[in-house]
Amino acid sequence: MHASTGKGSKVKYSRVLFKISGEALMGSRPFGHDMEVIDQLCKDISDIYKLGVQVCIVVGGGNIFRGAYASLSGCERASSDYIGMLATIINALILQNFLEKNSVNSKVLSAIPMVTICEPYIRRKAIHHLKKGRVVIFAAGTGNPFFTTDTAAALRAVETNCDAILKGTQVNGVYSADPKKNEDAVMYDRLSYMDLLTRDLKVMDASAISLARENSIPIIVFSLKEEKIVNIVKGHGTYTIVSDCE
Ligand code: UDP
Repeated sequence: MHASTGKGSKVKYSRVLFKISGEALMGSRPFGHDMEVIDQLCKDISDIYKLGVQVCIVVGGGNIFRGAYASLSGCERASSDYIGMLATIINALILQNFLEKNSVNSKVLSAIPMVTICEPYIRRKAIHHLKKGRVVIFAAGTGNPFFTTDTAAALRAVETNCDAILKGTQVNGVYSADPKKNEDAVMYDRLSYMDLLTRDLKVMDASAISLARENSIPIIVFSLKEEKIVNIVKGHGTYTIVSDCE
């Protein structure tokens, strides 16, 4: 599990799945994309790429479209979810462009085949790309309506044998309550999967947590703004780790 960086220092996780929500791409804008924020995010990814860490990315689409909201406004839920999945493909292509700008090779693999713009998702192909040193961006979630990109993140992490799921958020870990609304909220350093499920701590949806739990993949929750992903893969910095701890 402990990969050598080839430059003398060690990383704790040699293959990671980085879950990026659509919201993380919009910076302080109400929707869409903040290209400076995306560029910085891709620079941070290039830091771990240069260390030799194999990187998978699952990107959300909430900055463009969310199926659940659209269905409230009269669209059929399944149709809305397909539109949401298309939004994740847009984000995946934008990320790919900024990764390339930062000298990171990448491939977009979509669960909904769209063969003129990216590869269809094939598990063995994904693993092949990772071994060849390409960042793999999984687009279109699971390819099924009524799911989320959090579940897609857990699913792809399990399928590609990742050592950890890195969940970048707006806060620096998991708190007992919303720290923006409750000043008594405490941050946890470590939690079990069952803690997340039974206390309904809003980190990922229950199906994602269950998948990670069944396959013993730790979920590391950290702040995209305040922490560097390079510290996280070395096991440093501020974060909450969700694992099989008692
Ligand atoms: N979605 C879906 N199936 C999946 C993943 C995503 O139907 O496997 C749809 C769903 O409508 C969701 C939208 O795509 O609202 C965007 O994904 P998500 O809300 O997970 O994005 P994030 O919150 O991470 O930006």
